[in-house]
Amino acid sequence: MRLRNIPRAKQVIEASPTVIQNPESCLGRWHDIFGNQNPIQIEIGMGKGRFLTELAKKNPDINYIGIEKYTSVLLRAVEKLGEETLPNLYFICMFAENLEKVFAKEELDRVYLNFSDPWPKDRHQKRRLTSRNYLSLYEKILKKDGLLEFKTDNLALFDFSLAEIPAAGWKLLAQTKDLHHDPLGARNIMTEYEERFSEKGNPICKLIAQKG
Ligand code: SAH
Repeated sequence: MRLRNIPRAKQVIEASPTVIQNPESCLGRWHDIFGNQNPIQIEIGMGKGRFLTELAKKNPDINYIGIEKYTSVLLRAVEKLGEETLPNLYFICMFAENLEKVFAKEELDRVYLNFSDPWPKDRHQKRRLTSRNYLSLYEKILKKDGLLEFKTDNLALFDFSLAEIPAAGWKLLAQTKDLHHDPLGARNIMTEYEERFSEKGNPICKLIAQKG
């Protein structure tokens, strides 16, 4: 998702109590920042943030952090939240490449990826957020037995991800290529992209994997 540069984005984001302005200063201190020892889960590429915001409302005993690389997109998430603040939800504007600067070893319980950019060209494989180099990055910041949950409508990206998981030494716990007609879809929370693509008739794929 890439939106036009929006001049007010920076200002609105800097004024939002939900956005962490200096995430690198939080390295290893996230439980203190939330003020509890509850599990911490992140979504990388959260877009407009509906998925994580709904999860945060449903599960007050879990802490959530949404990560988005573009201020123009994060602005939408902040605006959707409006005046509301949730004690268990923060957003960060950053590139996934920098995760290790922001999260300490084994600080997180789960990583969500929803409708990640497919990077269809072979030479861009390494940029896919489910590639083995990203999996090894998640492995460091996830706790023992930490999980990755991934949804997409892009079959090529899904098949690529299914192959990367064992190659990276991770365990595939569950998968479906038609989430909305599968028991794995019970209590599913739709993302903005998921709604758009499923309305077009695209089946939604989902996998759950556990770090090795
Ligand atoms: N998860 C949302 C948005 C999907 S679009 C949904 O399902 O509706 C993918 C999003 O990931 C875009 O907003 C894009 O800007 C963001 N993104 C892509 N690569 C990223 C990266 N390396 N780091 C952080 N965000 C990224």
